Amino acid sequence: MKKEPGRRNTRQRQAIVEELRKLEHHPTAAELYSLVRRRLPRVSLGTIYRNLDVLTRMGVVRRVEGGRTGARFDCNQEPHHYVRCVGCGDVGDVRAVPGMIPEQAMGLEGYEILEYRLEFIGYCPDCLDHRNREEGSSHRGEGM
Ligand SMILES: [Zn+2]
Repeated sequence: MKKEPGRRNTRQRQAIVEELRKLEHHPTAAELYSLVRRRLPRVSLGTIYRNLDVLTRMGVVRRVEGGRTGARFDCNQEPHHYVRCVGCGDVGDVRAVPGMIPEQAMGLEGYEILEYRLEFIGYCPDCLDHRNREEGSSHRGEGM
């Protein structure tokens, strides 16, 4: 049995998952790399990517597309959806409401649906604030 590499991988994965759990937001692989490196100084970015891949396939970690800022990672196992900011690329959680999308609304026949993902796209409060200040008060009252 090749014990050593396995144990090292386990330790790296454990460190990744532990760091992920500490965070409120969903970090990129690069952010995770800098956090995990504090604990395991010899870890490489490639190792982080590889372990994130494995963890994603194991279903421990969820990969969230972050648009131009790259994929984000999440280890929250509660059913939930995402809201992505087009301004800064930040990804937040949206609590899933059971029955939010009834199966008949999907119009799918012959499929067994395991799960579905919803992504809300817009501006986060920080970016909205920034945008509103940039636009100035002349546009106030416009829109909705
Ligand atoms: Zn934003």
